[in-house]
Amino acid sequence: MDKNEILKTSAEYRDALKKLKPNIIKDKMLEEPCEDEDIQRGTNVIALTYDYARDPKYKELMTVESPLTGKVINRFNYIPRTKDDLKKRLKMINLLAQEVVCVQRCVGADGLYALFIGTHRLDKSNKGETRYHERLLKYLRYIQDNDIAPAGAVTDGKGDRSLTPAKQPERDSYLRIVKETDEGVYVSGIKTPITMSLYTEEIIVVPGLQYTEEDKDCAIAFAIPADAEGVERYMLGPDVVTMTDEFAPTHGRKYLNKEGMVIFNNVFVPNERIFLHGEYRFAAIYANLFATLHRFSYTACKPALFDIMTGAAMLISDYNGTKGEYFLSNTSEKIFEIAKNSILVSGMAKAAVEAAQETESGAIFPDPTYANMGKYIASDMFTGAVSTLQDMSGSLPANLPYSNLLSSEKHKENVRKLFARKKGISAEDQYKLNEFIRVLVASSEGGLLQIGSKHGGGNKEAEKVAIYANHLRRMFQCKSLVKKVVFKD
Ligand code: SF4
Repeated sequence: MDKNEILKTSAEYRDALKKLKPNIIKDKMLEEPCEDEDIQRGTNVIALTYDYARDPKYKELMTVESPLTGKVINRFNYIPRTKDDLKKRLKMINLLAQEVVCVQRCVGADGLYALFIGTHRLDKSNKGETRYHERLLKYLRYIQDNDIAPAGAVTDGKGDRSLTPAKQPERDSYLRIVKETDEGVYVSGIKTPITMSLYTEEIIVVPGLQYTEEDKDCAIAFAIPADAEGVERYMLGPDVVTMTDEFAPTHGRKYLNKEGMVIFNNVFVPNERIFLHGEYRFAAIYANLFATLHRFSYTACKPALFDIMTGAAMLISDYNGTKGEYFLSNTSEKIFEIAKNSILVSGMAKAAVEAAQETESGAIFPDPTYANMGKYIASDMFTGAVSTLQDMSGSLPANLPYSNLLSSEKHKENVRKLFARKKGISAEDQYKLNEFIRVLVASSEGGLLQIGSKHGGGNKEAEKVAIYANHLRRMFQCKSLVKKVVFKD
């Protein structure tokens, strides 16, 4: 490897995971988590981000020179400084999402990005009496020097939603400081669901809410190794499984999004890894920075998903012999209802870049109104797009016969009759496409995608709050404008 580059191979990434102390619980504690098939398929997603960074075809997009070290690093570990950086970040996520659907690595990358801006603001607000940004830079350098893909842990268990953290009967519903020493703090609590937490070396923790003084113990941001003493990781979604035979799409055979719950049980965090420590007013600022940045990332991955659904809908129409229905048809232009979403969300992404603002930290920040609106549209339209694809595909994706029967001497003749649709399309190809659509819209994975499109990075109400916060002044200007037009002398 060029000595000016720090780009781990995917094999080195896998080896680093193998060196971690086992702390992952599936239905029982996994002694060798890297041997688990679900974890391997999740690991494959992150491995692709390492492979692409070393692939001459994608290297320019996937890598960048670090201003901290002068070395070429993976773009996920780089804090964007210009509009061009933002464009490349979006393009990178979109490219990977076309292959793996959920890239997963964006969460930790957005956590680093949010902390970069947040710690700078906090130090300024503390009139330079704190050194959080300096600590963050040191940590960022560690991440870059070791080409680590950290997970980002934001959402707490939350418990009874009608009660504040301090009033929860189960105090661990929210991650909080339980003890302080001169060297650091001890934390306990739950963060869940945490994307890629089962196949990472490091976990970055950011507050998920705003807190009052009463809950200031929850106002904490930090980073720890994924196998730190007191950390347990629980594999979630026992039902999120995929077919893995020759008819399964790549997503099933090779990739999977396996979410995790991270339990902190008196975990020690040294001072140099703490980036917010009780400044409760800043918890909301950190949470909002992260939320906007992750919603901005959504404006890159969701167009890829809408594009995949568009292509699948067009192809299944071809295979079923209903081709022609999808352009200006008298059946309500179904395909348009899917394809338009990609255009709308990509448009918001472009607007968010165009109106991005530089921050005092040196990082650029995408426009929050457009970033939030992009995620809002993606969430709002996702279920409708799924429904249209289900409609256009018919019932076959959810009602496939067992795939081995296609080659069974005894049964193949009967089973193949089901796939006798458009002439020239083999039964195998019909099966594969219908199975691909099943995974997207009629499987446990498809269900996870729908839930993710609603709640990942916050739900629609949270996005609306952010949009109002940034757009309300303009809305009042609209009212004044109408008054002027209607009541002018
Ligand atoms: Fe990245 Fe999109 Fe997956 Fe979030 S949902 S981790 S933005 S690919």
